[in-house]
Amino acid sequence: MTTDSQNAERTMGAAPVRLCKRCQEIEATTIMRTEPLCSNCFVEYIKKKVAKQLEAYRIKNASKNNRRRVLLPISFGVSSLSLLHVLDGHLQSQIRRTNRTGYELHVLHVNTSGVDADAPQIGRLEVLKEKYPRHTYSELTLEDVFDHANEYLETTLRDVNINIGDVAPPSSKHEKLVGLLSALPSPTSRADVVETLRNNLIIAFAKENDCQSITWGDSATRLAEKTISETAKGRGFSLPWQISGGESPYGLHVSHPLRDVLKKELVIFAENVDPPLTPLIHSRPAPTMTSAPAKSTTIDDLMGQYFASIEESFPSIVANVVRTTSKLRAPEVTEGQSRCDLCGLPLADSDASLGEGESSAQSLVQPEGNLCYGCARTTLGSRFTPHS
Ligand SMILES: [Zn+2]
Ligand SMILES: [Zn+2]
Repeated sequence: MTTDSQNAERTMGAAPVRLCKRCQEIEATTIMRTEPLCSNCFVEYIKKKVAKQLEAYRIKNASKNNRRRVLLPISFGVSSLSLLHVLDGHLQSQIRRTNRTGYELHVLHVNTSGVDADAPQIGRLEVLKEKYPRHTYSELTLEDVFDHANEYLETTLRDVNINIGDVAPPSSKHEKLVGLLSALPSPTSRADVVETLRNNLIIAFAKENDCQSITWGDSATRLAEKTISETAKGRGFSLPWQISGGESPYGLHVSHPLRDVLKKELVIFAENVDPPLTPLIHSRPAPTMTSAPAKSTTIDDLMGQYFASIEESFPSIVANVVRTTSKLRAPEVTEGQSRCDLCGLPLADSDASLGEGESSAQSLVQPEGNLCYGCARTTLGSRFTPHS
């Protein structure tokens, strides 16, 4: 076993004063890979690590007349805020050096407070606009997915309108969304569909606003969580697209510049930049690891708790999960290949011939429509029948 477990530990309590190993001037506050670092040097260390992932955004890779527009979805979590901070600094340094930039940033927040009491309230983007005024900002609500969805989901949502109206047809986008989610069988399915709708909305928005690329604030820890939870939810086939980055089947370039940084490192980063990002972060009530998870606990919650403990003691495991998943090659997508009616991902042949028990179960849910295995599982036993 490596000593990685101790590597990123912060010095606690009355540790003897140690000078930062890099600048040799200031007292170290953090131990990073056995190196004691001061907060300045720690912040620089994280910035450099992220900059390594920004090759595509370099000035020499931008065409003269057509600067790349990059969409950055912000959730107000520590990771996406840290990414905004780093990218803002990256753009400023491009301007300082060459008086131009390799890309421009469009920040998007999809507000989910209509269906999630713990989500940030509408209007929080204003603070970011003031702090980082150079970029374009937009805020949508999850309900806007009924107006901005990609072609696959659009049809599904149009038809679902009819199917969820048990009593009276829903009159607003909000009622429609609530009706759709309440038709789903479990908290895990609801969380999964919320995530799917949010992704769809972000992708549709990127295309409508001429963004060629989406940059996600997922940390290494989050990518590891996703790897396991997406697999558990039956969407393992989508991992190369979700984790590796590069060209996505939605026709957009995707990047995860924080892929080498642990979530706990980002927490220290956010505390140590000047001024700290901490007041901007929206903190959710922390889920606690209990022996008997509450009924409302989702697979994503469980994986979040699991990897929070893993990154504390065994950070190399997190890195290994991400590295291994990144090696998966994405299946080839052919033009005209049929797509999932919910998530819009290309359907593999295997989705048409599921395992024995599953195929009959799937047909209960979805007699005619096209759903990938993951979305079929998510809507299993629900009244969510897009094309019946
Ligand atoms: Zn230092
Ligand atoms: Zn799907």
